[in-house]
Amino acid sequence: MENKLTKKSTVNKVGRSDFVMMGDIRLRQPLPTNKIDNVDPFLLLHHYGPFEISSRHNPLDLGPHPHRGFEPATILLQGEQLHRDSLGNESIVKAGDVQWTTAGRGIVHAEGPSKEFVEKGGVLEGIQLWVNLPANKKMIPANYQHVRKEEFPEKTSDDGKVVMRVLAGSLSDLKGSIQAQTDVDLYFIEGQSEGEVVIHVKESHQASLYLIEGSVVINDVIFLKKNENQFATFEQDGEGFRLKISEDAKLLFFSGVPLKEKVVSYGPYVMNSQTEILEAMRDFQMGKMGFLPRN
Ligand code: MN
Repeated sequence: MENKLTKKSTVNKVGRSDFVMMGDIRLRQPLPTNKIDNVDPFLLLHHYGPFEISSRHNPLDLGPHPHRGFEPATILLQGEQLHRDSLGNESIVKAGDVQWTTAGRGIVHAEGPSKEFVEKGGVLEGIQLWVNLPANKKMIPANYQHVRKEEFPEKTSDDGKVVMRVLAGSLSDLKGSIQAQTDVDLYFIEGQSEGEVVIHVKESHQASLYLIEGSVVINDVIFLKKNENQFATFEQDGEGFRLKISEDAKLLFFSGVPLKEKVVSYGPYVMNSQTEILEAMRDFQMGKMGFLPRN
């Protein structure tokens, strides 16, 4: 029953995960691109690393910076990151953990490898996903969540080869440990070669699949492979899709109810109008988003 699909969701776009420069940082950006500008309510996906971090090489050290109007999330794949923010939160995010910030009306945060991690050296890799907030939630108070890998519920495919970790939203009777402000499902999927699973997509959701590592086949027809095509978006026309693992793979599935609102973004702010962007810039300058020392 759970593995049957009466109507498959069609893949409508397939995209690459090319490198872009964010300041001095070279990272992959499958969303947005010229071809796929957003998958409402998801605005941006950055895949950074793997970077070899040491005291001589530390490319991903983001000092204090503000956000307003959306929820930036970090899904750490390898290494350790220190996260600090103007609400007074400070924690070490480890591989498999998720750090979820609700920027709301404003927050200032900083993230980078911890001092200890830089000293001992190691590999850092992660994903940053921006989830939009609807107009009526853009100015809610900021919030911070950090959930450790072992706290998330997991579901294993019938063949035992694919594990889905429910980060946010739900999967069958499992509930993700992150409380998002919008109706979204977010799963981290890890599969062994020849594994197979059906992923159900809620009728009201627009879904996407990002390949982090390996290669997979969607609905027996769409092939995703690292360094070739790594990103697929779906039409809202079916119940879900069949995923076959070709080579050991890691993926991120995310879906949500489209907000269908005007998006005006500038740097770290995502609002509904240009006026609101100018207000955000002024409010940050006036200290209304809080303060965070540069360590
Ligand atoms: Mn940030």
